[in-house]
Amino acid sequence: MQAIQFEQIGGPEVLKVVEVAKPAVGPGQLLVRNRFAGVNFIDTYFRSGVYPVTLPSSLGQEASGEVVEVGAGVEGFTAGDAVVYLGSSNTYAQYSLADATKAIKINTSVIPLDIAAAAFLQGLTALSLVTRSYAVKQGDWVLVQAGAGGTGRLLVQLAKHYGANVIATVSNEEKAAVARKAGADHIILYTQESVPESVKKIVEEGVHVVYDGVGQSTFDGSIQSLRRLGSMVSFGNASGTVPPVKLFDLTPKNLTLLRPSLYGYLVTEEERHRHLNELVELLAAKKLDIQVFKTYDLADAAQAHIDLQGRKTTGKLLLRID
Ligand code: NDP
Repeated sequence: MQAIQFEQIGGPEVLKVVEVAKPAVGPGQLLVRNRFAGVNFIDTYFRSGVYPVTLPSSLGQEASGEVVEVGAGVEGFTAGDAVVYLGSSNTYAQYSLADATKAIKINTSVIPLDIAAAAFLQGLTALSLVTRSYAVKQGDWVLVQAGAGGTGRLLVQLAKHYGANVIATVSNEEKAAVARKAGADHIILYTQESVPESVKKIVEEGVHVVYDGVGQSTFDGSIQSLRRLGSMVSFGNASGTVPPVKLFDLTPKNLTLLRPSLYGYLVTEEERHRHLNELVELLAAKKLDIQVFKTYDLADAAQAHIDLQGRKTTGKLLLRID
């Protein structure tokens, strides 16, 4: 089968199409013929060495497709089922092994395979951030950094869904329109304005929570934008990793600081069942608008990374797998 792999850490150019053996299904697993794989910023961290990998390495944290084989001990799935699942750096490929506990069946006449792959990892992330890292309540003020991005657009929509007033930051006017369409009440062009100053003009006391996946370049402004007792949810490093934090910086406003990972919210069976089903129900009820920026061929994964890291995209990037 064809898969994307890299033999050395580096830029997008290290990604190559290779011929590898189709994996053999083991207990608790599904063998899936992938149709769409999601491209996520975390893929670029593995490729570029921000997060550790063993070389040669494959990539990809999510995909949708059809079950081909069901491993021993797996219940509730049969060959031919349409599924979407979280992978383990292995979904940029024609076939992947999926942990059955991180897969869910979908009715493709309600949720097409491309939408399922586009919504899965970022949707689960946004859902766990707004319900568990800080549970957004009616009337809260929420700041979403990079509000036109894949995860950002979903955070904006879900924060609105739970009744919040949402401020989104974006780098340009085109992205401002995307964030506004997702439901943001206020936009800050963080390439031109000071985020804390603009937040203060919108809501004098500051916001209840900041969801910040940008990291290094926005961290200080996020902290300054919070009100007393606010929550700083730092969940990513698109601009670089956040340097060590001085704990006393949290003291003047008695702030809460979190650095969550989606996977840390999907540890127990109850958590996986709840969040996966919650997301699929939101999608089936058309409560989330999923925007696919572009669908690239598997062989063009490097270009998808160039576009994502080049801040050229809004919403979701997908790989089509023939
Ligand atoms: P996005 O689609 O949001 O793309 C990243 C966006 O970040 C860009 O479009 C850009 O928007 C903004 N950005 C700001 N500064 C930079 C920079 N220097 N370089 C590149 N982009 C920059 O990506 P994802 O939705 O896939 O991921 C967003 C963040 O969420 C990432 O940090 C990712 O690691 C994190 N994440 C964390 C998870 C977790 O479990 N903790 C799970 C999923 C995602 P603009 O042009 O408007 O500035």
